[in-house]
Amino acid sequence: MKQFDNEMLKLQSDSAVLNINSKKLAFTTDSYVVTPIFFPGGNIGKLAVCGTINDLAVSGARPLYLSASFIIEEGFSVDDLKTIVLSMAEEAQKSGVRVVAGDTKVVEKGKCDQLFITTTGVGELKQELSHISSGKNIQAGDKILINGSVADHGITILSARENLQFEEDIQSDCASLNGLIQKVLDAGINVKFMRDATRGGVATVLAEIARMRKAGIEIKEEAIFIRESIRGLCEVLGYDPLYVANEGKVIMIIDPKDEKKALEIMKQHSLGKESSVIGEICEDHNEFVVLNTCIGGRRILDLLTGEQLPRIC
Ligand code: MG
Repeated sequence: MKQFDNEMLKLQSDSAVLNINSKKLAFTTDSYVVTPIFFPGGNIGKLAVCGTINDLAVSGARPLYLSASFIIEEGFSVDDLKTIVLSMAEEAQKSGVRVVAGDTKVVEKGKCDQLFITTTGVGELKQELSHISSGKNIQAGDKILINGSVADHGITILSARENLQFEEDIQSDCASLNGLIQKVLDAGINVKFMRDATRGGVATVLAEIARMRKAGIEIKEEAIFIRESIRGLCEVLGYDPLYVANEGKVIMIIDPKDEKKALEIMKQHSLGKESSVIGEICEDHNEFVVLNTCIGGRRILDLLTGEQLPRIC
């Protein structure tokens, strides 16, 4: 960060917003090193496409083009590579983006773990939506929404990695969110900010927003949906589901007057059936996120310190 210092990087948004000949573009990149590379609900390739699409979409942009770069360990199965690339092509097509550039490098056995993928994406950003990535319009009273259950991805990866077979019905929520987000934006909902709740989970995103906007946040625990099987695994393994990664969940901050309409639109979408309003921005507790727990207590949600689960994305 220090060496590359510039005003676009400094914002630390999901995508950089570029001004080119009075047009705006969103631009983002991510490397994927998930292990295992195949997991219930997806694989490293689908994750790489969805993850980059989501970073563009939560910036308010319409994702258009991706590049894909592969680092492959010598001896990696060609059949597995085909399966992974096919799922990338399918996901891209489904989401209306095209993979237009790529690179392949093979390294000696033992010099990388099976397969790493880097995806970069660009999207078109309308002038009137360019405030979303900065969150500068967030104010007290704004509502905080999420499009469904939390912690599915992180717990699925951990279970697959550790071969925990006592839960059969769990799978990653890995999905491209651009379709759902576009529906909300097209309806004219006043979206103030969005972020996909990946590493660090919902709690970390909320803590980042509170710090960034110097605002307080109140959250209702009972409004956050956690599947029973995921909740059970979190308890057994000692994880707080609010800090576990998701790969198909967007936190949306909207104007309170649009609350009902936004929720209605999200629930109509296949990726938003379990959407809920989980809280709001408030005047009090400056820069803190306060969770009102199901048993009537209150606790502060802070940023995730250190890495809870390595190589989950
Ligand atoms: Mg992101």
